[in-house]
Amino acid sequence: MAEQAQSYQFQAEIQQLLDILTHSLYTHRDIYIRELISNSADALDKVRYKTVTGQEVMNPELNLDIRIELDDKKNTFIIKDTGIGMTKDELIENIGTIARSGTGEFIKQMTQDDKKDINLIGRFGVGFYSVFMVAEKVEITSRSATSGEPAWNWISDGKGSFEIIEGPQDAPRGTTIKVFLKEDAKDFAQKWQVESAIKKYSNFVPFPILVDNEQINTLNAIWREPKSSVKDEQYNEFFKFIANENEDPLTRLHISADVPIQFHALLYIPKTNRETMGFGKDEEGVNLFVRRVMVDSHAKDIMPDYMRFIRGVVDSDDLPLNISRETLQENPYLIKIKNTLVSKMLSHLKELQEKDWDTFKQIWKAHGRILKEGYMDFSNKDKLADIFVFDSSHRKTDEPLVSLKTYVSRMKENQDAIYFLSGQNRDALDTNPSAEIFRSKGIEVLYCYDPVDEFALPGLMEYDKKKIISTDQADIKDIEKIKGDEKEQEKEPEPEKADKKELKNLARRIKDILGDKIEDVVLSERLVDSPALLKGTAPGMSSQMEKIMRMWDENAPQSKKVMEINGKHPLILDMLKIYQKDVKDPFLDKIAWRLYDSVMLLDGMINDPHAMATGLQDLLTQSTQLYTRENEENS
Ligand code: ADP
Ligand code: MG
Repeated sequence: MAEQAQSYQFQAEIQQLLDILTHSLYTHRDIYIRELISNSADALDKVRYKTVTGQEVMNPELNLDIRIELDDKKNTFIIKDTGIGMTKDELIENIGTIARSGTGEFIKQMTQDDKKDINLIGRFGVGFYSVFMVAEKVEITSRSATSGEPAWNWISDGKGSFEIIEGPQDAPRGTTIKVFLKEDAKDFAQKWQVESAIKKYSNFVPFPILVDNEQINTLNAIWREPKSSVKDEQYNEFFKFIANENEDPLTRLHISADVPIQFHALLYIPKTNRETMGFGKDEEGVNLFVRRVMVDSHAKDIMPDYMRFIRGVVDSDDLPLNISRETLQENPYLIKIKNTLVSKMLSHLKELQEKDWDTFKQIWKAHGRILKEGYMDFSNKDKLADIFVFDSSHRKTDEPLVSLKTYVSRMKENQDAIYFLSGQNRDALDTNPSAEIFRSKGIEVLYCYDPVDEFALPGLMEYDKKKIISTDQADIKDIEKIKGDEKEQEKEPEPEKADKKELKNLARRIKDILGDKIEDVVLSERLVDSPALLKGTAPGMSSQMEKIMRMWDENAPQSKKVMEINGKHPLILDMLKIYQKDVKDPFLDKIAWRLYDSVMLLDGMINDPHAMATGLQDLLTQSTQLYTRENEENS
């Protein structure tokens, strides 16, 4: 007895997506073929997995394949697979009523982004709906391979609702999707058109794809072939297939190992990083195969988190097939494979850095930020430290970034630490007073512009037995003993003893003026050209790091700063003169406050720009008055 058709509304977001897809004209509509094939391949993977792990499935005698039938008279495109199929409930849930978490985000991309890249649809877990770019009606017949349920039909024109009705009793396991092509999409009933889409997008699907009974795709597991027999184009084509990318990768690493564990791996680094482009945290991108059977398409434990941008395939004969995703992590073979892969990838990157800077530069630009998270991986710390690169005070703009190895090779005599400084950009760091003494002695300082450096560099702790220290944390005695550049060595005469005592009094007076804005004011031993600088008082915490902490948590305590003043600077010496004449001269207050403003500015902390600006204008007025009066007197 045939059942009555039941009607279901599309979930609101899905309907919104369908409206966008049906009403716009896209240039790459052929990607719907890729999406349907990819779903069929997933469904076939599930059957294969069940079979090889000894679980029962319906119609075990059927071949695992994908068949496409075209009819250019009726304008239909039919795709059939012998995959896992869907029960009635699964049909209703998976296609139409339960929106994937990525749906909203994809809609946002399609409506806001002017590039409107339909190609990305598969990444958002809504690939199926792309069929409505070309279909005026879609009929799905599906029979679950495991439930014992009969087949069910799902029918819709993509406008508001779909219908579910019982399907043919004798249907074999799997899914058939019949696409009734729109008038302007008739081309997709042409064999050449479909064939070229398969070659372009689905050539590496590991199941035969037949169009009108002719097999179209190649079935090579290229990662199992000797390197010499695989061409660059094949490697790149395979990358685009598994990574869902349009562009060639930046580099690849093809490894085949026999001892102690047999495995093949083909790893790629893409040109762009989805995460830093704002797609949210990247999903693991390495497919794990055991004896050619895909066991996990986003294997979590095959690459460390800081290499999550890597795409590729790992295939081993030594892993158990019925390995569960939960126990993967503890599998000793897998751990060994992972260690080998990480170590080889890091060596590969080091080699690129030394021999092919151009490629390395692109990798570093796209993924360096994620790679630097690796500082927490203690077992690979040294190899990671070897590939990290930075801008530096000694680097000319057209030179490669500086590795720690390069840095160490040009360290000065008696220098036993690696110094770094963080901030917004090169200009800010070139004038940062906390590095003044380094500049004057010609000691190289690594420049860090990336918040993660604040953790990555101290996290490495040392490199080649040299401590890694932020310039504002450096001990002045360590810097003084370094033999700097000869010409800078001639020291300016120290201020007289008496002066020094007076300067200390001036410092105390400035502290009185600034009150509790500042922890203390002291005479500096490190300043050369600047009148003053700020120094953090929190141990082990550079002021940049403190800023980052406060970005995350507004209530993080702001440590009080110490202001150091330069007793050799003309401004400070003039302040001293004023002070010696009249301890309470109000002009001293003005200068003290503006000096404070300026060091706060240099430190990147501006709390009250209004007060700062008016104070500065007041001082400017006063000084121009002085200047014009002096001019008049002289003329
Ligand atoms: P995704 O493939 O990313 O999960 P899709 O929109 O392409 O998203 O497909 C949605 C879901 O519909 C799939 O996850 C699967 O459960 C189901 N599905 C689609 N096509 C098939 C098929 N040929 N066989 C079995 N299930 C399918
Ligand atoms: Mg899909």
